[in-house]
Amino acid sequence: MDGKQLQSLKAHTETLSRFIIRLSKFYEGMSEDIDAELQTLRGHLAGSPNFTLATVSINKLNTKLQSAGDAADDLIHKALSDLERDVKQFQQALSADPVVQQTATQLLVKLHQPAGDLFNTLALYQRASQFYASGIRKPQGADDAANLPGQAAKSAHYEAILEELNLLIDNYSRKRPDDLQLARLKARLLHGMSEDELLKSCVLIIRMIVQEAMSEASLSGKVIQSLHKSLGQINQNVSQTIDISKASFDARKAANIQLKAQLDTIEDAVKQSESLEKLKHQAQDYVKSLASTLSKREQADQDEQHELMKLLASMQSQLTHLQTQTQNYRKKLAEQILSSQTDALTRLPNRQAYNERVERAFELFESRQLPLAIAVADIDYFKSINDRFGHAAGDKTLQVVGRHFRKKLGSEDFIARWGGEEFVMLLPGLSPQALFVKLDELRDSLARTPFKFKQEKVTITASFGATCLKPGDTPDEAFNRADKFLYQAKHDGRNCVVTDQDEVL
Ligand code: GH3
Ligand code: MG
Ligand code: MG
Repeated sequence: MDGKQLQSLKAHTETLSRFIIRLSKFYEGMSEDIDAELQTLRGHLAGSPNFTLATVSINKLNTKLQSAGDAADDLIHKALSDLERDVKQFQQALSADPVVQQTATQLLVKLHQPAGDLFNTLALYQRASQFYASGIRKPQGADDAANLPGQAAKSAHYEAILEELNLLIDNYSRKRPDDLQLARLKARLLHGMSEDELLKSCVLIIRMIVQEAMSEASLSGKVIQSLHKSLGQINQNVSQTIDISKASFDARKAANIQLKAQLDTIEDAVKQSESLEKLKHQAQDYVKSLASTLSKREQADQDEQHELMKLLASMQSQLTHLQTQTQNYRKKLAEQILSSQTDALTRLPNRQAYNERVERAFELFESRQLPLAIAVADIDYFKSINDRFGHAAGDKTLQVVGRHFRKKLGSEDFIARWGGEEFVMLLPGLSPQALFVKLDELRDSLARTPFKFKQEKVTITASFGATCLKPGDTPDEAFNRADKFLYQAKHDGRNCVVTDQDEVL
């Protein structure tokens, strides 16, 4: 192998090592065990790569990635069985409704079908299960009302389910803008529907969610499998490269011994030769034999170089494929996380995002004792906006109010759409008095914001309930306290703020 070829092989090996290092960083965070092994692999590949040790590491990673895939499978199984439990509860709670019974049975059959794996799908499963939970939380006596012929009385949770369904459909329509079934469902919701129809629509959309989650789960499973396969292939290629290098080293050593022997023979012949003519013939023979040895060696070098290039090209293409796959997968994952935590209408974080955020904020509150407040805001007489100016005007109002709140709050403050026309906020670092002042300013600025529908000037106001966290509070307790204050604010005439400042003073 000549210097130029060696240089090119070295450059290829370095590119490959750098790429494996970058690639391995992407997989960090799957588990401590895999992280540690990836770090070891990077160590072997950094500087002047040690492929022998890297191969050992890659072999270990193969096994670990396989078991990480299995763990993801287990998670999906758990999510499926949770969902199954909720479906059964739903079925029991509405045992008098034959349509619910039938669709629940169909759903249970679907849940028994094998699913793939991976974490991003869990968000969708969770959503379906939360949706169910809200569907079965019927107030006492509501069953009787719901079973009355003609269903004149709607259950107290009708509005809440309707609202939740609206939100789900909004999110889904954004994801699947061409879905006819979804568009029809949206149109029917706008025209209002009976409880019976509402429940059927709930089951329909849950079925869509489950189907989508299952297809995405199997996609994720395939990505892990193909990653596993590609890594295995690279591992094989690296081992082959090492074997070829060893073999060529041995062959070159043998050829060198042969050359040396031929040169020794020439030297002896020169020493012992009696006539110039004889020496000339001998020299010609030796030169021929030397030339043949050298050309054989050159051919062997070329063959070996060709083999190595072939292997490197195959490794490169495997890695390029792997890189594209992981990039696409990472992009999709990030999009899914973002869209599953964003409210489609207001583009604010949604309830799921709040649930995650409040957990983190609570941990900070407990570990650092930093003041934290939860506030709930609800637009006053919002139903009348829908009734007087239409649902689209209601939607626009929600967007404007959401934007207004976000703009007025600080970067440390968190605001999410809780659902319907309610917003929830996490406000750090405020005393009870400062909390009241901040929310009252927010209330006042909204009341002074001009709205105009069909040439009519309209004042939009909101009521606020808020509380500062106390040691030992859980997120739910604090939220319920804020919600109770919100109820009081509504009772006190709306467009006002009620907090626990008086209790604290
Ligand atoms: P209050 O002052 O007591 O809060 O009265 P309200 O009318 O604001 O409250 P109510 O709970 O009676 O009505 C809320 C309405 O909000 C009912 C529901 O149809 C509507 N709503 C919920 N989500 C949306 C949405 O995304 N868009 C639109 N346009 N309306 C929604
Ligand atoms: Mg309201
Ligand atoms: Mg409300």
